This record gives sequence, structure tokens and C-alpha cells, in this order.
Amino acid sequence: DELISQIAAGEVVERPASVVRELLDNALDAGATHITVRLLAGGVRLIAVEDNGCGIPHTELALALRRHATSKISSLHELETVATMGFRGEALAAICAVSETALLSRPPEQDSAFLLDARSGEVRPVARSQGTTVEVKELFYSTPARRKFLKSDATELAHCIEAVRRQALARPDVGFAIWHEGKLVEQWRATLVPGQEGKDALARRLGDVLKQDWVAQSTAVQYTQGLVTVTGRVGLPEAARTRPDQQFVYVNGRFIRDKIITHAVRSAYEDVLHGQRQPVYVLYIDIDPARVDVNVHPTKIEVRFRDSREVHQAVRHAIENALALPRA
Ligand code: ADP
Ligand code: MG
Repeated sequence: DELISQIAAGEVVERPASVVRELLDNALDAGATHITVRLLAGGVRLIAVEDNGCGIPHTELALALRRHATSKISSLHELETVATMGFRGEALAAICAVSETALLSRPPEQDSAFLLDARSGEVRPVARSQGTTVEVKELFYSTPARRKFLKSDATELAHCIEAVRRQALARPDVGFAIWHEGKLVEQWRATLVPGQEGKDALARRLGDVLKQDWVAQSTAVQYTQGLVTVTGRVGLPEAARTRPDQQFVYVNGRFIRDKIITHAVRSAYEDVLHGQRQPVYVLYIDIDPARVDVNVHPTKIEVRFRDSREVHQAVRHAIENALALPRA
């Protein structure tokens, strides 16, 4: 069983950034409006993710760490239309299998927080306001072969920051802070606050994360074709860069990588971009959840569309429209 859980963990946890992503997904699923990520040694020594979400009752702390335990879906039917980031119930179990994990949580109805030490199974009261903290220490301590595959702390840190940045671009209603070795390295305040003017909240978040001048040199996308809606911003051809790492695509709020979408974007830009230059873009694709399968890969970074031509066309036309390009 130990072996099986190590193998399963390998599919979910590749490096500190994979842990950061899973813990952020959980915090967002818990309705957090502020999330703090604290790291030591690029996340290898410590990843702590603190949220102000709904919390986990102390009686359910141990269950949360168990494999295939999810509180998010209860039937195959719900899997078809899953609206939460998580649903496989694998992440915490996988993370526990390859690190020293502790879970601290306080739901609003409890007067104290409780800490579960995953290794010893001990539960004790601790001080904490409402929400959850997951502490992941010494990643891959029991599998030195995998630990050896990790890059320098600086590289692992950069991947962790990238994981937070991807979520931040999709959630202007949530504040994010990243600390490394006790220093604040990034902070993005919520730009969409309930009860306040939400106009341009997304553009402000994009400006905070991707730099204001990019927002100024980009154009808004707003397009619906059939059951697919594409929004976001695309960079103007003049502002294209040679570094290919600034393309952000979300399907129903989930960051994904997809060849069909990349191809659709490239086709839209084909006549205006030459050579190796890459546009910077942030696209939010909203589609009926029944027309996209998110349960393709344990890390959920890949999806499968029921009708990929439909998505290809919508994305291509959305960008051609935004750039006011003549349609081929
Ligand atoms: P999944 O997200 O696929 O359900 P996980 O292993 O990531 O599986 O988490 C297991 C369960 O632990 C979740 O279904 C949820 O009930 C609980 N949980 C995990 N993280 C949090 C959190 N930050 N706040 C509240 N509940 C959480
Ligand atoms: Mg999860």
C-alpha cells in the first residue's frame, strides 16, 4: 500500500509548484478570499498555504488526507458537470505520501482550530482564525531519487510563483501573497471586492500580474459562438515577444494547456506575426461543462473537448475579431 501510494503520488506531485497548485485549488474551492503562500528553499523545505475559507471540521481532518476522499462530488453524474477545481480526492493523500504534512483548520462553528499531524495521526487544539493552513515539509524526503530531480531553489521558487500567478489571473476576487524565506516576494490584492465597483477589476488584476504596459498594449476579447464564450485580452502583434511562456488559457476557470487552442490562436495571428515571435494572451473560455472532460489527467492540466472544431473556431474568430483582422 505504501508503494501504491508513492506511485500515485508521482502522478500528482512532480515538484513544489505542483503542491502549491493543488493547495491553491483547495483554498479556492473552500471559498477563500485571501490566500497566503509561505515557502522555504523554493518550497522544498516548506510550503504552507493559508486560507480564510470554510475550514474542515476537526472530526474530518483525517478523512481529508485519505485517498479518494473528496467532499466535492458524490456521484458520476456530478463528475459530468464538476464546478470545483478539485474532485478526485487525491491531492492531499498524494502530498502526504511524499512529505511531512500537517493540516490546521478552523471552520466558523468551532471555537478553536485543530492541527492534525499526518505522520503521527495526533490531533491537538491550536490557535487560528477561520480557515485552513496546510503545511508541507521536506518534500520527497523519503524518496531521495526524486528529490535529486529538483532544480535549484531559485528555479523551484519561480515555478511556485508561476503556479500562483496562473490562479491569480483567473480570480481577481481573491487576494494572494507569496513569501519566500520570510520575505514578501509577490502580492496581488483583490481588485474585485463585493459591494465595490467591479468595473475593470480583471484588467487591473492583469495589470498587477502581467505589468500595466502589457494591458495598455493589448485588446479585449469578447466573443460568443454557439455554446462557447471567449473573453480575456490578447497582445497586439507589435508587442509580441520571443519568450513563449506568457500564454494563459482557462477553460471554465481552470488553467489548461491545449494544442487545439494554441493552434487556433496561432492561426488567428498567422498573417500579422512572422518568425518566432509569440503574442502574450490571457483567454477565458467558457463552455457547457458537459462538453469538456476535465478528468483526463491527474494534474487536470489537460482537457478533452467533445467537439474540438467548435472550440478551435470560437477561439480563432474571437481573436480575429479582437484584432479586427479580416477573416480568412
Ligand atoms: P479534492 O480537492 O479533489 O476533493 P483533496 O485531496 O485536494 O481532494 O482534498 C480532500 C478534501 O479535503 C476536500 O474534498 C475538502 O473537503 C478538504 N479540504 C482540503 N483542503 C481544504 C481547504 N483548504 N479548506 C477546506 N477544505 C479542504
Ligand atoms: Mg483538491
